[in-house]
Amino acid sequence: MNIILLGPPGAGKGTQSQRLVERHGLKQLSTGDMLRAAVKAGTPVGLKAKAVMDAGELVSDEIVSALIGDELDVMGPGQGAIFDGYPRTAAQAESLDGILASRGRKLDHVIELDVDEDALVERITGRYTCATCGKGYHDTFEKPAVEGTCDKCGGHEFKRRPDDNEETVRTRMAEYRAKTAPILPIYEARGIVAHVDGMAQMDDVTAAIEAVIA
Ligand code: AMP
Repeated sequence: MNIILLGPPGAGKGTQSQRLVERHGLKQLSTGDMLRAAVKAGTPVGLKAKAVMDAGELVSDEIVSALIGDELDVMGPGQGAIFDGYPRTAAQAESLDGILASRGRKLDHVIELDVDEDALVERITGRYTCATCGKGYHDTFEKPAVEGTCDKCGGHEFKRRPDDNEETVRTRMAEYRAKTAPILPIYEARGIVAHVDGMAQMDDVTAAIEAVIA
């Protein structure tokens, strides 16, 4: 099974992808995570991408499509993928068709998480993760039981993404509206799009996604 999770930044794609990984053994292919890892490692791709990401703009189609192809190549043919944050432009959607076809794969579902943008700004600017295990938290909505200690691993270090500030978030949303939302009709024409209310409780969002892929 190969699934695209579509939605603006902060819609919950990362959280829901992790749940699909745990429940179905799929692999999460997040171009944002791959790019952040490249920035951290100081690779040529990371050096190129950093300023673009910090501004909330989109990294080139060639770079992200190459990252996706490389990741699919190291996966077993039987393991499904969740595309999280990719494709983000019509050119990427077209590349993905070729990337999948050449590896004998096909897209089964495109799930769009529908959200309210203003609420998302609050969601995103308050979010942070445990630096050790990656568990997600939020200043208002999901605090650790003991302040300063991760519920999952007991770690004491937390981190925030540099692009999770209001100005950059607004740019990232504008990019979504201008370049990513327009790719939906491509998939609608194939009859594989489902809409899920991304503003519902996290567990309800998961249940709605499960119903789509069942
Ligand atoms: P994300 O973690 O998906 O919110 O992505 C963080 C940032 O990485 C984005 O604001 C872009 O600068 C870059 N990025 C991630 N995925 C893509 C993509 N598919 N195409 C272009 N840029 C991307």
